Amino acid sequence: MEEYHKIHREILQWFSLNAREFPWRYDSPDSYHVLISEYMLQQTQTSRIAERFPIFLAQYPDINALSKANNQDMIIAWQGLGYNNRALRLRDCARTIVEEYGGNIPNEYADLVRLPGIGPYTASAILSFAHRKDIAVIDVNIRRIYSRMNGCSHPDDMSTKTVTDFAEKIFPRGNSSEWHQAMMDIGAQFCKANAVYCALCPLQDVCASAFQVMMKKNNTKKREPSHRDIPNRIWRGKTIEFLRHSNNYASDVAIVLHELIGNTIDDSDLVWFTKIIVPALQKDRLINHDVQTDVISLAHE
Ligand code: SF4
Repeated sequence: MEEYHKIHREILQWFSLNAREFPWRYDSPDSYHVLISEYMLQQTQTSRIAERFPIFLAQYPDINALSKANNQDMIIAWQGLGYNNRALRLRDCARTIVEEYGGNIPNEYADLVRLPGIGPYTASAILSFAHRKDIAVIDVNIRRIYSRMNGCSHPDDMSTKTVTDFAEKIFPRGNSSEWHQAMMDIGAQFCKANAVYCALCPLQDVCASAFQVMMKKNNTKKREPSHRDIPNRIWRGKTIEFLRHSNNYASDVAIVLHELIGNTIDDSDLVWFTKIIVPALQKDRLINHDVQTDVISLAHE
């Protein structure tokens, strides 16, 4: 730990002067706000969340209010954030916290990881940012930075165990929250997946890859399931968007969505929509499908 004293001091000072400002970052963060922001951050850009976070909090100011939301309320409140099933998992998580923990967000790792939608990263982020526990936090950005600091241009070149050991060793005890948020800011601004700005990076003196990162082409990226060159997840999101305004026949929704992309719809498009998109959204509890009338609507409960 001695060896890292200098970089601890420099990074914490850098962060105190340069931290990005977000509505969920406060000197004394509220654990409920951290929980909400971490769910939102799982797959959505920070700029979009900065816009939606205050609106969501105005509607659901505390965990009790959130626990009472029904599926439809949640899907509507989640507008603009994408991956709508996260909204339902967040509400399920709130219910479990109210029912089993008296409305207090757990401060033990083992309790957090058994809640719906909370994996190892989110659990450690909540412990570090909300409860100020001394715990290593590793998200995809931090993993990339630590790998590069150890001379590996590509995160996959460093094993998970080696990254975890390094993460444990390097963060300053007593300042886990500031350190890891600083790493996230560095990952977002200087040490990106496809570009590095080492000259601006406050880690350049301790980074084995500084000024020599080689970008690898990722040829192994899997293709997402798509229809008409549009990923199914976009079709799913557009369907929910549509249903926020009105219930409709599944076939009419399919027609409108295809028209939006300038596609002349044929029978195979309708069959695909009814066989793939509608059941997937039903399975995620996001919509109801009345098979008698073929009407689809946002799910209630
Ligand atoms: S010095 Fe360059 S490679 Fe190293 S962490 Fe900073 S941006 Fe990344």
